[in-house]
Amino acid sequence: MADAQTKLDEIREQIIKDDPVPELREGAKQLVFGDGNPEAELVFIGEAPGKNEDEQGKPFVGAAGRFLNEMLEMIGLKRNDVYITNIVKYRPPNNRDPLPEEKQVFLPYLESQLEAIQPKLVVTLGRHSLNCFLPDLSISQVHGQPKRFKGRVYLPLFHPAAALYNGTMRQTLIDDFALIPAIIEKIKSA
Ligand code: URA
Repeated sequence: MADAQTKLDEIREQIIKDDPVPELREGAKQLVFGDGNPEAELVFIGEAPGKNEDEQGKPFVGAAGRFLNEMLEMIGLKRNDVYITNIVKYRPPNNRDPLPEEKQVFLPYLESQLEAIQPKLVVTLGRHSLNCFLPDLSISQVHGQPKRFKGRVYLPLFHPAAALYNGTMRQTLIDDFALIPAIIEKIKSA
């Protein structure tokens, strides 16, 4: 059976071949597929690439990404220990929110990425990411609470870009983030 990296490479090629949202691809510099360890226990899912991500071809490399890196360090992890991706793989024009149909179209590829990686825990960053998997939940009510759904465990967190300049939300995100190691241990021992 193909290893996780090979499967991820195939999914990336498939997106390029399918060209699922030409309007987005045309307005973006490049595909931002995902980054990190293909065998990761922990996968983070954001919304869509921003300007820096579009330029570098990697998710979460701007201010929100630096905050994410800091929080990873806080729990003793580096970026290469985890896998990071977004729902939508091309930067939306002017950093607008991804449209429902754009999220819909990219969801099967995201599902395939998760099937290739088989993480223990999927951390959703922000409401778009949470609601792709668990549409009925509200981020303000369930942040920091692991949710088991269809054989997978999700941890909804606030989006680091939203929390970056909001003191209260920032502290809540840091506190929720600190729960990750214990949640993973619990999943492993279940
Ligand atoms: N915000 C996201 O949701 N994803 C990124 O890659 C960067 C910022």
